[in-house]
Amino acid sequence: MTATTDTPTDLLTSTVETLRATYRSGVTRPLAWRRRQLEQMARMLEENEAAFLEALKVDLGKPAVEGFITDIAFVLSEIESMLKHLTKWNRPKRVPSPLVTLPARSKLVPEPLGVVLVIAPWNYPVQLLLAPAAGAIAAGNTVVMKPSEISAATSALLGRLVPTYLDPTAIALVEGGVAETTELLAERFDHIFYTGNGTVGRVVMAAAAKHLTPVTLELGGKSPVIVDRSANLKVTARRVAWGKWLNAGQTCIAPDYVLVHEQVRDRFLEELTSAMTAFYGNDPHASADYGRIVSDRHFDRLVALQQGATVAVGGRTEAPERYIAPTVLVDVDPASPIMQEEIFGPLLPILTVTSARAAVDFVNGRDHPLALYVFAGDKAVVDDVLARTTSGGVTVNGTMLHFTNPHLPFGGVGESGMGGYHGESGVRLFQHLKPVLTRGTAMDPSLPYPPYNDRKAKIFRKIL
Ligand code: NAD
Repeated sequence: MTATTDTPTDLLTSTVETLRATYRSGVTRPLAWRRRQLEQMARMLEENEAAFLEALKVDLGKPAVEGFITDIAFVLSEIESMLKHLTKWNRPKRVPSPLVTLPARSKLVPEPLGVVLVIAPWNYPVQLLLAPAAGAIAAGNTVVMKPSEISAATSALLGRLVPTYLDPTAIALVEGGVAETTELLAERFDHIFYTGNGTVGRVVMAAAAKHLTPVTLELGGKSPVIVDRSANLKVTARRVAWGKWLNAGQTCIAPDYVLVHEQVRDRFLEELTSAMTAFYGNDPHASADYGRIVSDRHFDRLVALQQGATVAVGGRTEAPERYIAPTVLVDVDPASPIMQEEIFGPLLPILTVTSARAAVDFVNGRDHPLALYVFAGDKAVVDDVLARTTSGGVTVNGTMLHFTNPHLPFGGVGESGMGGYHGESGVRLFQHLKPVLTRGTAMDPSLPYPPYNDRKAKIFRKIL
């Protein structure tokens, strides 16, 4: 079932009602149904890979290799791992029963939550919609998926394919923007999984509060890079450049800015410039491996952010095709607008610090970031940074890769979000672990029952 952009409210309501009726019918409980849907989702990606890569190109100028790695292969590997562990992750788990409960057996029974809403942004529009939805399906829920209207070509493709591959009575895709999402949010869901900015995150949480619906908020923020003087600068520069300019900087965990030790600042800049040239050539505009900004509005915002800063590398912009060169900014005022809001584009401010501790103080003067990157050869520096900072996640001597490990739940803390997913955590998120204690009836000691006496009181004092 796919509702279109001009979906009337009553159609949205009936969509959610259908999904709730399907959930109540028990159709989604058998693992066979869940397996079939996950396999179908994988088939949808595999059979339409070229169409997905084309849509990503239209929306974001995404290079095909980038699109394949980040939007297709990532979801396929999440699905593969869910299929492999489906039984284990949905199996009841025995837990001990204390003496006072005996005779008894206790277990935690994973149950689906009901009807889940997944709202996705435009920057990885396939991955950020399908990966959480796959987790919700693996846990046995019905799902409404709401892709971003800003990545319109990908949204339209998903809107066409989802109802043909997935069970339309249990999995719906609703296209649309603020109006449609607002109407959807008025419905009662059993969990809302939202990825996007913190302003809308607050809108989602307020709407969820009306129905006491739990939320997962995958938000953003300014993810810092700390470069210590003990860092391997060549490797650091390559890894920062890769993380920053993938998807033209439009990644929630992209390095937002660099805090580099003053003693190695010039050498780091040289290495960064070499890495940029090695990746994108002397003219990144002509590179097939470099993306574009998603919309004119986002392009204008980034051009305005760049105003007044000293450009060390890059700086070229081409409005008609929404091109902004990989750009390094130096002598940046920490109070300037570019250091206040998440950049979410290919501009990289470099600030110098006198020590790793000073970098920590800088980071701690701001909201908890979604990701933090520390580059240092000196393990004591790494340990100190880890001990003194709080962030959604960390990659040490690298960027972004903690995101790709399914054994590390991905999510933010404080302003960067709440809740984590990927791998097992991406299924657990959509389950209620129902505690069940079952008593045996062959024995029924009279100890807990009145009338109480001194002997019973003494025993209680011993065993409780
Ligand atoms: P966006 O504009 O596509 O919005 C996200 C979703 O919210 C869309 O589906 C949109 O339709 C909906 N929406 C927008 N305004 C709304 C409103 N007023 N009421 C209800 N729904 C509304 O994407 P965005 O927010 O610009 O995405 C960029 C942000 O997302 C950045 O801050 C980035 O860091 C963050 N992000 C986080 C992650 C993560 O995993 N933590 C991943 C990607 C992006």
